Order: sequence, then C-alpha cells, then structure tokens
Amino acid sequence: MTRRVNVIGGGPGGLYVARLLKLHDPGLEVVVHERMDGSQATFGFGVGLTEATMRNLEQADPETAERVREVSYVGHELRFAAPDRSVCLHGARNLAVGRAELLRVLGEAATEVGVDYRAGSRADLGTVTGDVVIAADGVGSATRTKLSAELGVRTSLGRTRYMWCGAPFAVSSAFFAAAQRERELFVTHAYPYAEDRSTFLIEVDDETWESAGLGGFDAATGPGETDEQSVQLLEKVLADQLRGGELLTNRTRWSRFVNLGLDRWHSGNVVLLGDAAHTAHYTLGSGTKLALEDAIALAGALAGESSPSAAFAAYEQARRPAVERFKQLAGRSQRWWDSYRWRADWPAERLGLSYMTRSGNLTMADYARSEPTVVRTALEWLGTAPSGDLDEWVLAQPLQHNDLQLRSRITTRAGLGPVEEFAWSDPDVWGATEVGAGAGPLLLTGSADEFWARVDLAERLRLQTRRCVGVELPQSARAFAATSIGAGRADFAVLN
Ligand SMILES: Cc1cc2nc3c(=O)[nH]c(=O)nc-3n(C[C@H](O)[C@H](O)[C@H](O)COP(=O)(O)OP(=O)(O)OC[C@H]3O[C@@H](n4cnc5c(N)ncnc54)[C@H](O)[C@@H]3O)c2cc1C
Repeated sequence: MTRRVNVIGGGPGGLYVARLLKLHDPGLEVVVHERMDGSQATFGFGVGLTEATMRNLEQADPETAERVREVSYVGHELRFAAPDRSVCLHGARNLAVGRAELLRVLGEAATEVGVDYRAGSRADLGTVTGDVVIAADGVGSATRTKLSAELGVRTSLGRTRYMWCGAPFAVSSAFFAAAQRERELFVTHAYPYAEDRSTFLIEVDDETWESAGLGGFDAATGPGETDEQSVQLLEKVLADQLRGGELLTNRTRWSRFVNLGLDRWHSGNVVLLGDAAHTAHYTLGSGTKLALEDAIALAGALAGESSPSAAFAAYEQARRPAVERFKQLAGRSQRWWDSYRWRADWPAERLGLSYMTRSGNLTMADYARSEPTVVRTALEWLGTAPSGDLDEWVLAQPLQHNDLQLRSRITTRAGLGPVEEFAWSDPDVWGATEVGAGAGPLLLTGSADEFWARVDLAERLRLQTRRCVGVELPQSARAFAATSIGAGRADFAVLN
C-alpha cells in the first residue's frame, strides 16, 4: 500500500498531481520539492489553455478548475497579421493564464489539502525516498538523465531559436506577425494573459541569427542572466507591435526547443510526468495541458491499482496514445514554423489557411465553416472565383507545369506519364537531403500510414525549390488531398 509520495518539481504537473493524490487518499503523505524558493520568479510568462483542457480539469477537481478560470484571461480571438492586413484564424475561444498565477493557484490548492510543499528544496533520487517518487522536474529533468538507460531517452533540438518575453499591456487579440529587416525575419507569437500583460514569444531562424549577430549577444550573456542586447534589438525591430514600449524579461535568452520522447515513463518506484517525460512544440500550446492531464491519469491510477508498478503501467497505457497524438500534431506545427521564411510574402488569407491546416487536425472545410471569405480569397492563387464545394473546386482545377498537364488535381499513376518517384514516410522532412535536385515533376510515394509526412516533404520542396510535387494518398484522404493542395503543400494527388 502506497503511504508516502515524493514529488520532485513544483511546476503545474507536480503541484496538481500532489493535490489530486491527497484528494483521492487524505491519509497519504505527499511532499513536493521545488528548487525555486518563491523569491525567484518562475520562467516564462503566460500559457494558453483550451476549453477542452478546462473541461478535463473541471471533471477531475472542479474547485481548482474554477480558481484557474478566475485568474485566466478570456475572450480574445486569434489573428494572422501579414504586412498588408490581418485575418481571423478563430474567434474568442482562447484562454490564457500567467504561469506565476497558475503556480500560485495550484500551490495553494495543494497545501490546503495537506500537501507538504517545500519551496527552495532541490531534490534528486539520492536524497528523496518513498514508496513512489514522481519526477515532475521539467524538460531538463535530472531524474530522467539519471535513469536514461532504463527509460530509453530520445532528444533533438528545434531548428529555430525562441525567446519567451512579456509585454506590459494586453494586446487586443492574440496574433502572429513577422517583422522583416533585410533578410532578417523576427516572428512574433503574441497573446494577452491578463488585463495588463501579454506573452511575446519571438522566433528566429539561423539566417536571422547570423545576420543580426545574435550569437555574439548570446555568448556575452552569463548563466541565469537576460540577454539584454538581444532584448534591445527586439524592442527596436518590434516597436510597432510593442506600441513603442519595452519587453518584459526574466532570465530571458535564446533557446532551442527540446523535442523529447521516452520508451518508458517509469522505472522501479520512479514515474515521470509532464515535460520530464515528453514535450510537444509550444506552437501547439499544449505542454501545460499534457502535464495537467498526466497528473489526473497518474493520481487516478495510483488510487485504483494495488501496487505502484501496476499503477505506473496503467498510467502510461492510458496517457501514451493522447501524448503521441499531440506530439505528432505539434511536430507538424513545429516544421510549419521552421519553414515560415518561405511563406513570409504570402497574402494574409493564404497564411491563414496554411496555418490552420498545418497539423492535419483541421481541414480546409473546417476553417471555411468559420471563415468562408478568407478561405475563398486564399484559394485565388489556384484559379478564379472559388465557389461551391471548395474541396471539389480545388480538386477540379487544372495543372500545367512545363510538360506536365493535368485536367484536374486528382489523377492516377497511369494518367501522370513518366515522372520521377521518391518513396518517403519519415516525419523529419529536413533529413531528406537526397531528394530535390531534379527539375521535373516529382511524385512522393509510400505506405498509407504516414502519408502526412509525404505532404510535409512536398511542401518543403515546393517552397524551397519551386518544384512541381505530387503525393500518393489513400482513397480515404480525399478531403486531406484537397486541403493539402489548397493550402499549397502539394500540386496534385494520386489516390490509391
Ligand atoms: C516558449 C514556451 C511557450 C509555451 N507555451 C505554452 C502554452 O501556451 N500552453 C501550454 O499548455 N504550454 C506551454 N508551454 C509548455 C509548458 O511551459 C510546459 O509544458 C509545462 O510547464 C510543463 O509542466 P511541468 O510541470 O511538467 O514542468 P515545469 O513547468 O518545467 O516544472 C518543473 C519544475 O521542477 C522544478 N525542478 C527542476 N529540477 C528540480 C529539482 N532537482 N528539485 C526540485 N525542483 C526541481 C523546476 O524549478 C520547475 O518549477 C510552453 C513552453 C515554452 C518553452
């Protein structure tokens, strides 16, 4: 019978699992060790949460959900701002909360039910004991490093660099925008999270990094300090977005996102949750959500199973499918932002359609239901006056590219004639260095399982080499084919 649980890390995942454990079993001894002592501000500014996440929190613990809602900022739409105009991506369904506020609410909720919360207590596997040790120590988890052989850790770094800043006012709607200075491109993801606060997350690619000399600024910044020179540069470049004001910082410096996956989330009496176990790129805004939902599943499993090892297995089995699904969606989102430079001069409507369909969980028709005019305007790059059923309209458009002439965008292998073929099913489309040199039309082929990876490679090749690229897709993916072509990811599709 589990009597004592030690939690390493008092982030959202660690605090929430501690509270839920005590709610399930008040007799349990639960200790949370958090290395920050409260006098140090936590990293990051606001985080976005969805209504779906809030519903999960409401079900698990209505009182805490209500308090999170009380400190959240709601009611802002999301827009894509191109240099000429901006378009609506979706209406007022966003909810954001300051990370520090969220931690305060979760910390209070945990201590109220008797969790022993020890701020300023750095813990590790050598110093904590207990029937169960929950490692909620974030993406840099020392626990994971210690157990890496047992857990099967895979990491890779994102291609762009980002800075997580704030601004001392609430932007009127969440937005994406890019500020261009010669070849330098500073991409902003901004959203309000309080009456007087916004998150400003700024991304740069390698070209910008080198051209703007950001590497030099970074090298001159000591550990734990803010990169003041970069911040000053950003304040100048983003002056319009910042209304001429300042960026708020907090040990803020350039980072690369750590993509993390584990073969197993537990070993012996230790179980990992949240960022310690998995990451999903921030452009999907789901890391906190995944950590909180892990906490719900783990607390439930520990309450319902007879031994910690059975509970850990049940927890991992319950959570892995959802986590893998989010990682896949987030990976596609990450690659979309990685390749943003090649779309930077697109009109706002095309950017909007491409953005909304980037991960594959929304189709063109889904977006057209809320923003029909934006989608019709976006499709004008394919032909005049898009109308009627937009999927069928896209697929009916002819294609003429040098010697390749097609009456519609859907064809058969025989109808294509001789074209170069290349088999592809790897999500890492940046690894495909062996393709792309030719000039004629190219057909990407492969199994029915990972067909979206072919579309991502097609998009990259179209953007970078302007080659005419088609994709082989399963018959069932007709709407996906129309979305991919309408959004400029592929020129044509062969349905099998
Ligand atoms: C730029 C950026 C933007 C993001 N935006 C969003 C968003 O909009 N929406 C969203 O849902 N998510 C977002 N996220 C993700 C989110 O911040 C994380 O997924 C989330 O914080 C994970 O929670 P966690 O509890 O697992 O880990 P963390 O929040 O990292 O907490 C880990 C805690 O463990 C503590 N700790 C570490 N080691 C020790 C030790 N040895 N002893 C004691 N304590 C220790 C740390 O101090 C920290 O408090 C974003 C992330 C980034 C990088």
